[in-house]
Amino acid sequence: MRVITTIQEMQTEIIKLKSQSKSIGFVPTMGFLHEGHLTLLKRARLDNDIVVLSIFVNPLQFGPTEDFATYPRDFAKDQSLAECEGADFLFYPSVEEMYPHSSSVSVVVNERTDVLCGKSRPGHFDGVATVLTKLFNTVMPTRAYFGKKDAQQVAVVAGLITDFNFPIELIPVDIVREEDGLAKSSRNVNLLPEERRQAVVLYKSLTTAKETIEGGERNPQTIKNLVSNMIRSETNGLIDYVEIYSYPQLKALENIDGPCIIALAVKFSKVRLIDNIILEVSKEIGGVK
Ligand code: AMP
Repeated sequence: MRVITTIQEMQTEIIKLKSQSKSIGFVPTMGFLHEGHLTLLKRARLDNDIVVLSIFVNPLQFGPTEDFATYPRDFAKDQSLAECEGADFLFYPSVEEMYPHSSSVSVVVNERTDVLCGKSRPGHFDGVATVLTKLFNTVMPTRAYFGKKDAQQVAVVAGLITDFNFPIELIPVDIVREEDGLAKSSRNVNLLPEERRQAVVLYKSLTTAKETIEGGERNPQTIKNLVSNMIRSETNGLIDYVEIYSYPQLKALENIDGPCIIALAVKFSKVRLIDNIILEVSKEIGGVK
């Protein structure tokens, strides 16, 4: 595996590989790799000739009061994990390499940002879309792999790829969880031990919601109350949002039918966690996938 730190060198390598008709699988991350990232890498390894992993903690997608400075980082460990998973290239640019001067152009996301993390984190998805545009132009992937843990991001990236005509296939990958159900996240290390115990209820509340919908409940507010009450009674966390929307459109629902997402964000003392469950709901009772 080669570590590359400059855009120019990465582009030169990719152009060489493309001239040999190699397919390129790309996994963009912010590092501090865990099983979730490695699952994306494994998928990319299966589907492509060449696998590129990027590690870049993108300042543009963090708000001024968010955890950019304390975001966990461990490059040496990431490097050996990426190597073990068979990545061919690790693209690891500095902030100065990615943003050498104040930007004269940036990408603004117009749809799906007035809800969920887009609403709580103003500018977050503009930062994500801007960095991905730069990364896509650098790595020029055939396929790009994104986790459904960030389901709103998957929907936004689908819009970016379509609207900007990137010749890239977007591959969404299922959420990887700890044994007790907590969605794997680099940020989990910043939970206090008691918060880590409490955080189990996030996924528990989503599965209870799913079971309740399977039992016939179709009122979004009833389900939101159920999830919120479970989180309030079993954690000290502060609920940022608990919402149900159509997926991937992210539109409000009067009744739960059709593909939908139940998504939540909860702030603990040093870390804000997100989780979600995507359901196929049909009108019949029990009709949930
Ligand atoms: P991050 O490093 O948090 O920006 O994540 C990089 C990629 O890994 C994103 O596409 C995430 O959605 C994905 N990812 C992070 N955690 C998980 C997880 N637990 N399961 C599946 N994918 C994940």
